[in-house]
Amino acid sequence: MSLFEQLELFSEVSAAPVIPSKPRAPIKLATDVAVIPTVRPLSLAAGTRWREVRASTQTIGFVLQRSRRKSIGLTINDDGLLITAPSWVGLSQIDDVVIEKSRWILDKLSVSQARQAQMAMAHTRWQDGGDIPYLGNRIILRLGQAQAPTQFLGSAFAPVDGDTLRLALPITAEHGRVRDIVHAWLQHQAQAWFDLRLQHFLSISQLQIKRWRLSSAATRWGSCNSDGNIMLNWRLIHFERDIIDYVVVHEIAHLREMNHSKNFWREVGRILPGFERARNILRQQDPACLPLL
Ligand SMILES: [Zn+2]
Repeated sequence: MSLFEQLELFSEVSAAPVIPSKPRAPIKLATDVAVIPTVRPLSLAAGTRWREVRASTQTIGFVLQRSRRKSIGLTINDDGLLITAPSWVGLSQIDDVVIEKSRWILDKLSVSQARQAQMAMAHTRWQDGGDIPYLGNRIILRLGQAQAPTQFLGSAFAPVDGDTLRLALPITAEHGRVRDIVHAWLQHQAQAWFDLRLQHFLSISQLQIKRWRLSSAATRWGSCNSDGNIMLNWRLIHFERDIIDYVVVHEIAHLREMNHSKNFWREVGRILPGFERARNILRQQDPACLPLL
């Protein structure tokens, strides 16, 4: 999955450049001190050229592509920064845009590069000896006993660091196969554990749901609709149990309050006193980052 960020500087419909719209608030990263590498791609596509501009904190290299469109576009892709500009826009004007938007560019490049590094790391995860987070602990994958069924050598819902998950795969199994089998196991565990916790908190709260199911939504951890259907993101199974409990209770509390009002949070606190710590931890996690695990 590649990070694809785009910033439109000029309105697509207007022939004359207009004041650029404000970019989304950049994610706070230490771009003031660290130099973000902007490296010329090994090969450049036809009709593109490499260019470098000295911005306030560092030099920024980018691929420039001339286009028929009426706006200048800034895109961050796996190769770095791509600028598309109409032929009538001069190089110095393009350089000015890069300098003016350098903060946004460097923030986005930094996020993109961190994500690529994470993906490279994920590649070594899906093999014998690789580890994955499960209920807040790191468990180790073991391959090589293709005949035996998948087996977790530890307490199913109270794992400790270093517990082993034995997979029915040869030691040479392809990373993609390893990942699929581990994901299937994690989903199976999530189904069982979330169901136990839902029943537990439903009985405490005296509330009822219609049904619930696992989701793999990229943007949310859980949801609840007014019909009483709850969805829980299976990737929550990576987190410690307190965090899962918080999400379960959050959705159950929506059965009473379909909003995030004071009354809603009072309801969450009634069912799960001390939920704030879990909420704060989860607020720093983006579900979209978890597919890499
Ligand atoms: Zn909510």
